[in-house]
Amino acid sequence: MYAVISDIHGNLEALEAVLDDIPEGVDEVYCLGDVIGYGASPNECCDRVREREIPVISGNHDLAVTDPETDLAWFNPVAARAVEWTRERITAENASFLYSLPRTMSGHGAFFVHGSVRDPDEYIMDSAAAEKSLSLLAREHPEVALCFFGHTHVKAIAPFPGDQAPVGPSEPIDLSEDGPYLVNPGSVGQPRDGDTFASYVLAEGTEPDSDRPPSIAYRFVEYDLGSAQEKIRAAGLPAVLADRLAQGR
Ligand code: ZN
Repeated sequence: MYAVISDIHGNLEALEAVLDDIPEGVDEVYCLGDVIGYGASPNECCDRVREREIPVISGNHDLAVTDPETDLAWFNPVAARAVEWTRERITAENASFLYSLPRTMSGHGAFFVHGSVRDPDEYIMDSAAAEKSLSLLAREHPEVALCFFGHTHVKAIAPFPGDQAPVGPSEPIDLSEDGPYLVNPGSVGQPRDGDTFASYVLAEGTEPDSDRPPSIAYRFVEYDLGSAQEKIRAAGLPAVLADRLAQGR
C-alpha cells in the first residue's frame, strides 16, 4: 500500500497531521508537487519531504519561487505576493532541491503528474479535460491503471466509478473496471472544495503483477488550522491566505 499527497503549500501543521495519520503498512508516500507557496512554513515543509525521502514532482509554485525566469504576471496579485515572500525566505538548498525535481514520475505501476497528463500547468476541472488526459494516458502509458494529479486542490476521480459512494473518507474504492482512472487526492495545505481538513489517498493494487485489484481510499485529516492561520498573519503574508483556510476556498 502507498499514500499520495499533494499541494502542501507551506502548511506545516497540515503536513505533519497527514504524515502522522499515514497508517503502518504504507511503504511509500508520493507527493504531486506544490510543497511551497501561500503558507508560512515553506522551508519546514521542504525539510519534512526531504527527511522522509518522499518521491516528489514539481508544481507551478515550486518553480515560480525557485526559477527566477518565471513571469509573475501569470499569477493573481495575492499568489504573486506569496511567491515573492517565499523567494525571500527559501534556503538555497531547498530552492535547488525544488528546482531540480522531475515534472512527472512513476511508481507502484501508477503515474504521477501535477496538473494533467499533457501539461503540468493545466487544471483538470471538468470531464472534457479529464477525457483528454485519459486518452493521452491510454496512448502513451498503456500499462498504467491509475494516474494521480493535483493542482486544482479538489478531490476527484475520473471517470466516476459506477455507483460508488461520492468522494469521502472511504472504504477502498475498486478501480479495476473501465480504467484507466485519474485520481486527485485533494490538497494537504489549502483545500478549495469547501473542506477545511487536509486530505490524501491510500492506494494499492496498481502494480501489473499485483494479486489485488487497483483501489484507492480517501483519508480526511483535521489539523491545527488556527495555528497555520496565525503564522500566515504574523509572517506578513496577505491575510486572505489565512482566511481562506477556514473556508476551504
Ligand atoms: Zn497548488
